[in-house]
Amino acid sequence: MLGSEVETSEKGRGGKSGSAHNVCFFPYLKDIKAFSNELAKHVKNITLSTQRSDLSGYELIDMVEKYNGILIPAHIFTPHKSYYGNCSNRLQDIFKEKYDKIFAVELGLSSDTFLADEISELENKTFVTNSDAHSLPKIAREYNKMLVEDISFQEIVKALKNEDGRKVLANYGLDPKLGKYHRSFCEDCNDSIEIDEAATICPKCGGQNITFGVFDRIELIKDKKQTKSPENRPPYIYQVPLSFIPGVGGKTIEKLLNHFETEMNILHKVSEDDIEAVAGKKVAKNIISSINGDIQVHSGGGGVYGKVTIS
Ligand SMILES: [Zn+2]
Ligand SMILES: [Zn+2]
Repeated sequence: MLGSEVETSEKGRGGKSGSAHNVCFFPYLKDIKAFSNELAKHVKNITLSTQRSDLSGYELIDMVEKYNGILIPAHIFTPHKSYYGNCSNRLQDIFKEKYDKIFAVELGLSSDTFLADEISELENKTFVTNSDAHSLPKIAREYNKMLVEDISFQEIVKALKNEDGRKVLANYGLDPKLGKYHRSFCEDCNDSIEIDEAATICPKCGGQNITFGVFDRIELIKDKKQTKSPENRPPYIYQVPLSFIPGVGGKTIEKLLNHFETEMNILHKVSEDDIEAVAGKKVAKNIISSINGDIQVHSGGGGVYGKVTIS
């Protein structure tokens, strides 16, 4: 899919300016080229990655549609570059009467379906779990399984719109605790902190340099008493990437990949015996424990991933 991640500018929370990321997909090269030419008028250096534009999300969606594209708000809860993270409590306030043109939102590593379904305005939006292209080895640490007739832009759009039987069948992704921004973080203490709903100061040092975690941000803005996903919400399947599993280092991962080709195969298809034959008993046991959820997950925050331990 031809795509572009665009940073928009909003009047943010508490009078501060906020920025958000948007994933924009286009059907043809001519469309994305024309889009890029127009976007260049709103960005200082169009050749750098995700430079801040002077457009709002409300303005950007028109430009995307002009070139036959679709707009998906990206990693919607992350603290620094997302709509809920630092722009608004409601996407509807950003997109106003154009809110119906948004049919899918991207959850990001630190959230999942259960957390996002605490916000009622997301009820009829499709959730996508994407890994981005900043780092090749991390591709497919999150992904979507879709039911489509063939692999084309039109079919994927239909799946995202839940049209003609096309749909997202499952979301695969991290346990949100493993994400880099799950819990809140005090920049002054340089440590994760627990804060309750309305607090904006660090309970340890009294500092105000707090980076809200995704979990805490959702606690603050959720409007459903009970989390209940809509009937047609596909399952969210947790997966622990190999690099998070204790005792599985770079060399072992390389060996496993040489043998089983993809991380998806290793995490979802291969048996313990097969893994053991390639990487030994201990590694096989740890990978299977991770797959079965027989692990302890310690929350991440402040830009540091969560951790997995196996007792
Ligand atoms: Zn981004
Ligand atoms: Zn502190």
